[in-house]
Amino acid sequence: MRNAGRARTTPYHRAPRVIRVARENLVLPENGRSADDLLAEIARLRRDDLQVRGGKVTAYVYDTGRPEVHDAAARAYFEMLEVNTLDPTAFPSVVAMEKQVVGAVAELLGGGPHTPGIFTSGGTESIMLAVKAARDARRVAGTPRVVVPVTAHPAFHKAAHYLGVEVTPVPVDPGTFRADTAAVAAAITPETVLVVASAPSYPQGVVDPVTDIAALAASRGVLCHVDACVGGWLLPWLAEAGAAVPPFDLSVPGVTSISCDLHKFGYAPKGASVVVFADPALRRAAYFASAAWPGYTVINATVQSSKSAGPLGGAWATLNALGRSGYLDLARSTLEATRRLVAGIGEIQGLRVLGEPESSLVAFTGEDGVDVFVLSDEARKLGWFLQPQLSYAGIPANLHVTVTGVTLAGVDAMLEVIAASAEAAKVRGPARIPEGLVEILASLDLDALDDATFTELAASVGVELGGEGQPEMAVVNTVLDALPAETREAILIRFLSAIYT
Ligand SMILES: *Cc1c(COP(=O)(O)O)cnc(C)c1O
Repeated sequence: MRNAGRARTTPYHRAPRVIRVARENLVLPENGRSADDLLAEIARLRRDDLQVRGGKVTAYVYDTGRPEVHDAAARAYFEMLEVNTLDPTAFPSVVAMEKQVVGAVAELLGGGPHTPGIFTSGGTESIMLAVKAARDARRVAGTPRVVVPVTAHPAFHKAAHYLGVEVTPVPVDPGTFRADTAAVAAAITPETVLVVASAPSYPQGVVDPVTDIAALAASRGVLCHVDACVGGWLLPWLAEAGAAVPPFDLSVPGVTSISCDLHKFGYAPKGASVVVFADPALRRAAYFASAAWPGYTVINATVQSSKSAGPLGGAWATLNALGRSGYLDLARSTLEATRRLVAGIGEIQGLRVLGEPESSLVAFTGEDGVDVFVLSDEARKLGWFLQPQLSYAGIPANLHVTVTGVTLAGVDAMLEVIAASAEAAKVRGPARIPEGLVEILASLDLDALDDATFTELAASVGVELGGEGQPEMAVVNTVLDALPAETREAILIRFLSAIYT
């Protein structure tokens, strides 16, 4: 508490920056309200949301630029909304649709008509099931371990955390950001149940050496999961459009499972991913059944039990509404936009693209006095969202752009915004943080703070939780960037707790 007070009275204290959150509690109405009334309120609640269409938000959302495709998905989603995937014998439509969707993914990713898979709610769930399958397919003495390159998605850490598995992190090549096969080899122990490669890894959009890593895993008798959550429904189409894409799918010897999110480059509404397995026994190891109670028998393919078939209907409809030619067209414009973006950023003074992305995910860092966190805030003022990524494992802080089918139409405007924001960031200089704050945070027992004290602490860096206005995040990002990962995590959890309080 004393420490928090000291931080708040620092001489660098400035006008609060704000994270806008809803402050009103729902009071259950005495009588039901009309749908029109409710939709008007939703529109009001969404006023400060990022835009989900139009390409100015370069993360989180995937827009084809074809409203009729999104409409087809929304209608199919709505049609399946009240179907419960809990019991496939009660709703055979679920089995039929899921087989088609999984089959389409398997076919695109080097599998065959009988390749087993599961439709899940997202990449995290697909990865969780792949890790569970690996843990249960080949039991080891002691704590099972997964070998995970540092650029792999945190979903592996989450899966390990939930499933009682340990992560062995391994470095990537500092120049290319691709996983280092020799480091993977050195990390495999008798407890290792799974080795991970990404196609591509999200942070820099580069594809790990899947052929080498999968061969290595096979030679050591270990399973190999390829995380193609973001790239699975992108790389094959980019390859068809002329991009150089290294082998990464189930056709590579040693690859035993692969995850592919349809709610990313499949352009399906959120809640849609697929995990496919090289072998039916592995899929069975991902399943869960329980008859240990006096109620209905539980057989679950996924983490969730009762859930809407809406996302499945939405994904099925999106695949059908776009078709091969639709995805190929989108890949062509995505490829063209990525090339122009990479070339354009290369010409902006003070910016440098990290690595050579094979995909359409582009990360760039700032040099010569350009602070990327400030750049991101400047771009936000111009209506564009560029995603900040903190420094980690020797990789500098940077901004991430996910190029999608809709980007090409606005790529020149995006480059102008990046150039103008870089210039503005140079003039403003790096974000300044209150003196001593990082040291205080690093030494605080964050678990012992209450939410009110944490909220005060946030105010000391100018973040007023629950305030009004446009958020500026450079100070927050700079503070987080200066802290070790465990402290970042503790702060993020406090932050989430505070904005929901
Ligand atoms: C998005 C992503 C995930 C996690 O997916 P969610 O759908 O957000 O759960 C995993 N791996 C990679 C490489 C991703 O890009």
